[in-house]
Amino acid sequence: MTQIPGGFAALGLHPNVLAATTAVGYEEPSPIQEQAIPVILAGHDMIGQAQTGTGKTAAFALPILSKIDPSKREPQALILAPTRELALQVATAFETYSKQMPGLSVVAVYGGAPMGPQLAAIRKGAQVIVATPGRLVDHLSRNGQVLSTIRFLVLDEADEMLKLGFMDDLEVIFEAMPAERQSVLFSATLPASIRGIAEKHLRTPKHIKIANKTQTVEAIQQAFLMVHADQKVSAVARLLEVEDFDALIAFVRTKQATLDLAAALEIKGYKVAALNGDIAQNQRERVIDSLKDGRLDIVVATDVAARGLDVPRITHVLNVDMPYDPESYVHRIGRTGRAGREGRALLLVTPRERRMLQSVERVTGQKITEIRLPDAKQVLDARIKKLTNSLAPLVADAEGSHGELLDRLIADIGCSPRALAAALLRKATNGQALTLAAVEREQPLVPTASAPRERSERSSTDSTDRRPPRAPVAVTEGRARCRTALGTRDGIAAKNLLGAILNEGGLTREAIGRIQIREAFSLVELPEEGLDRLLAKLKDTRVAGKALKLRRYRED
Ligand code: AMP
Repeated sequence: MTQIPGGFAALGLHPNVLAATTAVGYEEPSPIQEQAIPVILAGHDMIGQAQTGTGKTAAFALPILSKIDPSKREPQALILAPTRELALQVATAFETYSKQMPGLSVVAVYGGAPMGPQLAAIRKGAQVIVATPGRLVDHLSRNGQVLSTIRFLVLDEADEMLKLGFMDDLEVIFEAMPAERQSVLFSATLPASIRGIAEKHLRTPKHIKIANKTQTVEAIQQAFLMVHADQKVSAVARLLEVEDFDALIAFVRTKQATLDLAAALEIKGYKVAALNGDIAQNQRERVIDSLKDGRLDIVVATDVAARGLDVPRITHVLNVDMPYDPESYVHRIGRTGRAGREGRALLLVTPRERRMLQSVERVTGQKITEIRLPDAKQVLDARIKKLTNSLAPLVADAEGSHGELLDRLIADIGCSPRALAAALLRKATNGQALTLAAVEREQPLVPTASAPRERSERSSTDSTDRRPPRAPVAVTEGRARCRTALGTRDGIAAKNLLGAILNEGGLTREAIGRIQIREAFSLVELPEEGLDRLLAKLKDTRVAGKALKLRRYRED
């Protein structure tokens, strides 16, 4: 894999850390990374004003990993995060970026999990501790020396930590660390309380902020869709069904994502190609030419690879991954709406990126409209409309060329014109689902995440989204359909569910009927006779580490 010159390679990272950025497919540093990495490498304390989605985790993880000595088996870096979820995410990022650093280990320390394994990992010499403040204070109360070797401290999402009431815990933690250390604070906002912490605990910090110039966007209709990160591909597939586009450019963050999404869309029958920094110049030109003349309709690109791309046919820009800052958003969506034509920009937003959405709105001075994922009915209508549009122009003269053949086929087969037309349609549409029931069956459920605004309203619609689709087939005689909230997103496959029910329920395979695994839930048919007893037996069953909580499912 190649990286563009002047990218990560120019920042002075340790070669093993640099290698990891190449391995994960990052093509160039984000603006916050470009500014923060040299400052942290130089040993300065720092305040970074950045929110999730800007690449802030790598902005501190990469330089800190570059400075850690993996041969010393003691805690060297402490990252504090407000929530368990963020702590796990940051710990995973450290693990990813330290893949090529033998001897380096990371421990996540958070509440709600047993302390034993966390303590053991610290004792074994984890150099990086990623912790929520509350649980870390619990550890300190058992062993006041845990943090005595820390040389690097990061307060991630400091404003959130204070909002959650961690001020006192933070003071305890500061006390337990050597004064001689490098401290970095990241926060989306800098209220007086944060400035107070910085004054007291940071030493002449450098202040880093990504300047947001106001930008103008005209003639572009903008919309966003809230979606969970792992459901982006299904969401894109569904959106594309109903969006009436000529040519579309989809933006993602990594090379791998360009390949993955392009492959997924190709399977769906789109004329699509991936464009990333690994693609040779002549191939890149071929892709752009094909997009210009209609041999391709979709290009999935990284920001780097799309630089300078100017194709008037582009009616849609789809931001599958958030851009790093509002400026690159404006840059991206400027690919459409060219030459006075109206363009459309769509943005997928994960729950953690809400703030980023707000900055984009602030910088562009425009509200971005929220859209919902199209439902089966809308998908069906769009498919029928496309079919109508493709057939309508043929009606005028097809009878002249094929009318006689039609008469002969009707006579030979001995069927009605309607029956023959239906057979031809079936052939022409190649097995595509064209009834409501068939579309419902085919579409994976994509629960929409809750929106930043109107949250309370949203939660009720959310539950509608998560409701299983109308059951495709009637329940088998003598069986009842049961539901669990575990699905593919929890790592569940039919065999796990089956295994758990067989083992703990004492049933035979024949007693279990159809199993349907979806993203956010699963359905399984169990014998009606003795069902309550069986469900009671399975009350504490866990699958893939999570409570199964199987319940009788009643459709309404
Ligand atoms: P963060 O703002 O740290 O939550 O990062 C947001 C996402 O951007 C994460 O999924 C990172 O893996 C990804 N990311 C961070 N830096 C880069 C980069 N230079 N190139 C591509 N993706 C990145």
